[in-house]
Amino acid sequence: MFDLSKDERSATLSHKGSLPVGITPYYASLMAYADASEPLRRTHIMVNDEYVRLPGEQDDPLGEDHDTVVPGLVHRYPDRVLFLTTGFCSTYCRYCTRSRMVGNPGGEYNFSTSQWEKALAYLEKHTEVRDVLLSGGDPLSIGDDKLDWLLTRLRKIKHIEFVRIGTKIPAVLPMRITRDLVKMLRKHHPLWMSVHYTHPTEITPETREAAARLADAGIPLGSQTVLLKDINDDVATMKQLMHQLLTMRIKPYYLYQCDPIKGSGHFRTPVHKGIEIIQALRGHTTGYACPMFVVDAPGGGGKILLAPDAVAGRDGDDLLLRNFEGKIYRYPDPQGTLGRNKPRAIAAE
Ligand SMILES: *Cc1c(COP(=O)(O)O)cnc(C)c1O
Repeated sequence: MFDLSKDERSATLSHKGSLPVGITPYYASLMAYADASEPLRRTHIMVNDEYVRLPGEQDDPLGEDHDTVVPGLVHRYPDRVLFLTTGFCSTYCRYCTRSRMVGNPGGEYNFSTSQWEKALAYLEKHTEVRDVLLSGGDPLSIGDDKLDWLLTRLRKIKHIEFVRIGTKIPAVLPMRITRDLVKMLRKHHPLWMSVHYTHPTEITPETREAAARLADAGIPLGSQTVLLKDINDDVATMKQLMHQLLTMRIKPYYLYQCDPIKGSGHFRTPVHKGIEIIQALRGHTTGYACPMFVVDAPGGGGKILLAPDAVAGRDGDDLLLRNFEGKIYRYPDPQGTLGRNKPRAIAAE
């Protein structure tokens, strides 16, 4: 499928352990045959930079293992859990935040139905959990019957009011979104889905059809995109992707700062890049097209929202706010305390 560069070839040949190179034929067909700098190709074909470990990089930067209450169940936030259902994906993104555990059956991390039973037992006992996010690996790589069984079990737990599936399959294996799958999923409403898209090249008639089937089944769709250096870290590319997602009835949900997994240096942008992209979207285009830019805090702090600073300070009773054009507006806010610490910066403006 590819004319590999020397770098790609030697990196792939010396690879071992988890996160194998894996790409569906469909997804490979969207990638450049010979150009190793093409964005989608860079997200999936490894290079030797992946073996370079920079300061601050870790196998489990988000501290998920620490918040794991039973194997495969991460309970970090008070009312919701991350349920890792499988270690399998139909493609493997080189920047994967769970690169330590995916695509490596028989390795340190295992996923099985007996493990699911333990997670279900935990969820039955923990009445504070009202939201379950199925992830992995890719939950839509699980067979219809097995996934139906899991969703049925979850739905039987009365205090779980919200279930969502995190998946990249609509982008990388859209033919998996069969009418049978969708018919099964819609039995389990309210079911939401977070779909992973990276670049406008992924937007094809096939993925549009997959998203349409899901949306027609009443599954609200939100997107998750990882900000990646020289792949989607410019305003034009990101705006185009967000606009195309809206036409597919997908609401851009999160834009992620790339997690500092081992060997991710060639993918990571400075954090201000993400803020700049949000600044260029917010107000300049449809509000629905603007995702939340988050850094998932290393060490298990959870997702932290970053946005351009709209509070410019105070002037007497007025709160000074910056609009999308950078102009300052006053809002009468006599009892307010926002911006109290920076009145001087304002006076200068
Ligand atoms: C992202 C995440 C969630 C879900 O967070 P939302 O902000 O509700 O989408 C839940 N648990 C863990 C561990 C997560 O990383």
